Amino acid sequence: MDPDEPSPPQAAREPRPPQPHAARDGAAWRALDRRVLWHPFTQQRGWSGEDFPVIASAEGCTLIDVDGRRYLDGVSSLWCAIHGHRVPAIDAAVGAQLARVAHSTLLGLGQVEPIALAEELLEVAPPGLSRVFYSDSGSTAVEVALKMAFQHWRHVEGGDTRRTRFLCLQDAYHGDTIGSVSVGGIDLFHATFRPLLFAAVQVPVPHGPSPTARAHDAARCLAVLDELLADGADTFAALVLEPGVQGAAGIRTLPEGFTAELVARARAAGVLVIADEVATGFGRSGRLFACEREVVRPDLLCLAKGLSGGYLPLAATLAAERVYAAFLGEHEELKTFFHGHTFTGNALACAAARASLALCRAPGWLERARALGDELAAGLAPLAAHPQVLEVRRYGAMFGIELVRARGALRADGGVDDVEPFPLARRTGHRVALAARARGAVVRPLGDTVVLMPPLTMDASDARRLVRIVCEAIDEAVRDDGATRPPTGHEAASRRVRAEDGA
Ligand SMILES: *Cc1c(COP(=O)(O)O)cnc(C)c1O
Repeated sequence: MDPDEPSPPQAAREPRPPQPHAARDGAAWRALDRRVLWHPFTQQRGWSGEDFPVIASAEGCTLIDVDGRRYLDGVSSLWCAIHGHRVPAIDAAVGAQLARVAHSTLLGLGQVEPIALAEELLEVAPPGLSRVFYSDSGSTAVEVALKMAFQHWRHVEGGDTRRTRFLCLQDAYHGDTIGSVSVGGIDLFHATFRPLLFAAVQVPVPHGPSPTARAHDAARCLAVLDELLADGADTFAALVLEPGVQGAAGIRTLPEGFTAELVARARAAGVLVIADEVATGFGRSGRLFACEREVVRPDLLCLAKGLSGGYLPLAATLAAERVYAAFLGEHEELKTFFHGHTFTGNALACAAARASLALCRAPGWLERARALGDELAAGLAPLAAHPQVLEVRRYGAMFGIELVRARGALRADGGVDDVEPFPLARRTGHRVALAARARGAVVRPLGDTVVLMPPLTMDASDARRLVRIVCEAIDEAVRDDGATRPPTGHEAASRRVRAEDGA
C-alpha cells in the first residue's frame, strides 16, 4: 500500500475480522465465561469455583480445549453429534450450502434444502407419516406436535372440543418450553413451573432396579392407563411418550413390549400418539428409529438432536396424513396451523441434515452403531458387581450407570434390598464427570446416573478407553464416602471380575 495514500474513511474499510482467540488461555476464557455467560441447567454459584474446559476445536470423537487438552466426547455433545465432529461429508455440505444461501424463509416461499430433506426423511420414517413440519429444537418439535394434536381435534368432522387433555408418562422429559414441560414428569426440572402449565395426566412407568423388576411392574401401569381411558378416553387429545427408553430420566429402559402396549391402548381409545425420538432417533436405538424397534406407528414423530448430525439447531415434527388432512379447509375457515419459527426449514441446517442422513443410510452404518453398543456393554458389564452401582441400563448405544451409596444383592425376582442413595449434596454423578474429565473424557451425569452416549462412529479402541476412564472415575468418585454399612461381598467380586479383565 502507498504509505502516502490517506487511509480510507472508517465505513469504507474492510470489516475487522473477529479478534483471534490465541491471546487468551483457558484461565482467561473461564474468567470471561464467568463474567458474561449464564449456563443451561447450572447453579452458577458452584460454576464459578470449577475449572471447566473451554472447547476450541474437535477431531472425530475428541474435543480439544483452548489449552490443547483432548477429551473423548462421551455424550456426543449432549446426544446429538452422532457421527462425531468435523465430519468431512457434513462439512462439505454446509460449505457448499453457504456458497448458495444460508437461510431463506418458508413463510411464503419454497426452499430447495428443506423440501429435499423432507422427501428423504419420509423415505426412512416409520410408515404412515407423510408431512414434515420444521422447527429448531427438540422442545419446539414436541410443542408443535402437541398443538397439532390439539388443533386437529377441533377440525375433525363435526369438531371435537372435548379432546383437550394430554396423556404423558411419569418421569418423562420432552424439553423446556412451557408446553413440553407440561407433559414432563421430572419434578426436579418441572415442579417450579407447575402453576404455569396446562394439565396433563401422567401414566406411571414401571419402576425397579432391574429389567426383571420393571417387567413385573408393567401390568400395574397398564391398569392405570386402562382406568384413565375407561373414565375419559374421549377427553384425551394425544398420548406423548419416548419409545423404549426415557433418556433424561436416567436412560430408564421400559420393559420390552411396554411401549407397544401403551400405544395399542391409546389407539383403541381413539387417542393420537406422539412419539418423541429426539434422543433415540437416527441409529441410537440400534434401529434408525426406536419406533421400528418397539414396533409402533405414531401419528406424530418428533426429531431433533441427531437430525442435523449435531451440527445445527434443527427439528422436525412428522405427521400422519389424517392429522394433516384435518387442517385443510377454505382460508376463512381458519383451519390453518398458526405456528412457525423464523428459522423454520433453515437451509444450512437442512443441508447438514441431508448429509448426515445420507451417512446414516450408507451400508454398514447401523451395524457399526450396534457394534459400538455391544462393545460398550461388554466393557461396562463388570460394573454390575460394583457395590455402588445399582444398575447399568442399556438401550442400543445409550447407557445409564446408576450409582448408590449402598445396596444389597440382586434378588431372584429382580429386586434389590436396602438401597441407600447418595445424598444429593454430595453430587456423586458430578464427581464422576470431574474425575473422567481429569482422565480425558467428557461425560454428563443425570443426578447420580452416569450417562454414556458417544458418537455412533466411535471406534472400538476409543470405546474401550472411554469405558476404562468411566470405571476409574466411578471408583474415585465413590471412594472415601464413609458408607454407612460394610461392603456385602460385592467389592471382592468386582475386584475379581476386573482383575480377570486385565484392568
Ligand atoms: C433433549 C430432548 C428434548 C429437548 O430437546 P432440545 O433440543 O434440548 O429442546 C426433548 N425430548 C427428548 C426425548 C430429549 O432427549
